[in-house]
Amino acid sequence: MREYEIAAIPADGIGPEVIAAGLQALEALQRRCGDFKLRVQHFDWGSDYYKAHGRMMPEDGVAQLKRFDAIFFGAVGAPDVPDDITLWGLRLPICQGFDQYANVRPTRILPGIVSPLAGVGPGDLDWVIVRENSEGEYSGHGGRAHRGLPEEVGTEVAIFTRVGVTRIMSYAFRLAQSRPRKLLTVVTKSNAQRHGMVMWDEIAAEVAPEFPDVAWDKMLVDAMTVRMTLKPRSLDTIVATNLHADILSDLAGALAGSLGVAPTANIDPERRYPSMFEPIHGSAFDIAGKGIANPVATFWTAAQMLEHLGESAAAARLMNAVESVTSEGVLTPDVGGTATTQAVTDAVCRTIRGSNV
Ligand code: NAD
Ligand code: MN
Repeated sequence: MREYEIAAIPADGIGPEVIAAGLQALEALQRRCGDFKLRVQHFDWGSDYYKAHGRMMPEDGVAQLKRFDAIFFGAVGAPDVPDDITLWGLRLPICQGFDQYANVRPTRILPGIVSPLAGVGPGDLDWVIVRENSEGEYSGHGGRAHRGLPEEVGTEVAIFTRVGVTRIMSYAFRLAQSRPRKLLTVVTKSNAQRHGMVMWDEIAAEVAPEFPDVAWDKMLVDAMTVRMTLKPRSLDTIVATNLHADILSDLAGALAGSLGVAPTANIDPERRYPSMFEPIHGSAFDIAGKGIANPVATFWTAAQMLEHLGESAAAARLMNAVESVTSEGVLTPDVGGTATTQAVTDAVCRTIRGSNV
């Protein structure tokens, strides 16, 4: 029996609802497959913890997570706690502390789910966005001077290093090479941002010859939103900075039907530390507690987690079950259905139990 230690951090809003759903599906998979076991430890960190202790997690929180094989994360964000505190207090310290520099965000239109793009169905939109996850615009550098005065200045410094850009570029080329179409689009804003962004373009050109079978091109991020919307079939693998990819991947989720179906994996490709798996959406407090959060993004990221752990057969079984359930029209309201989170979860677990593939 192969065994894995998993840290579950459901955190805020719909985070606990979708993580509970994900854990039920993982439980059903373990019973169906019978050859691996996930030992899950729960952490009650997040905004409620912050209100009680003045921090989003204990001081040694990142160190406590180090012994795990993977982290299964919900979402942070509460209406009465500033967003920069929730994000910088929990999610970003984990990503940066474990050098999870590759954030991998697959997007596909699942069967039964309707894209807002007319005439675009499953097969027409099949992308993986690779987001640089350790530096760039979210490096945390900057400051404020003369706070509250008319002459106040706030700076937000984007930091790009040759090491950081080269490693994400190599990761993206390698991923593109592993996919059938072998296409990579490198996104920047190197017309207006003429230092770090020009370096991105140069490093892309330096790395490209190591991957002669990958066809690659460059896009400016603003034009990229147009191409994603009007020519979705022209794209396959995409690499972009921390900020640009954050924005493009929300757009990608919406074009695939909903943020509720968009997963992400925060990967340490060198496997020095645990990687972290989460839906890309936030805590969605507008729907929290209503039992209607779409669990599909969390099922999909659970499949990414299984794949990362080497349990590819279980990952495929999970995605097959999810696609079979969406194709039957068992959908939450964000993708046009009437099912609850639990109804979708029950259908996925039932399909896993009955599946032969
Ligand atoms: P959000 O992703 O929480 O929600 C955006 C919209 O999408 C909302 O209308 C929401 O109802 C809908 N939505 C999101 N996930 C859904 C799901 N699974 N099923 C159905 N509908 C879903 O983004 P927001 O509203 O901008 O932010 C809410 C809070 O979440 C903020 O505090 C923000 O800082 C935080 N946030 C956290 C993360 C994270 O933890 N990784 C990411 C984004 C936002
Ligand atoms: Mn985001």
